[in-house]
Amino acid sequence: MDNIPDYTELHAMHEARQERMLRRVPKCDICGERILGDFFFNINNVYYCEDCINDYKVDTEDYMEG
Ligand SMILES: [Zn+2]
Repeated sequence: MDNIPDYTELHAMHEARQERMLRRVPKCDICGERILGDFFFNINNVYYCEDCINDYKVDTEDYMEG
């Protein structure tokens, strides 16, 4: 029974691993949050999350009218 790691130990290891991974993830320059999505935008080495970059999206048609 000795070689079965107990749950708390496993959990702590898992947490530490997640922590290390998270620290490598860049923070969004606009909202300051760590980027946890599948992708992010790297524009001239400045990072943006999908949510923030979407705020910059403009519908071309807005400029075609009038
Ligand atoms: Zn953001």
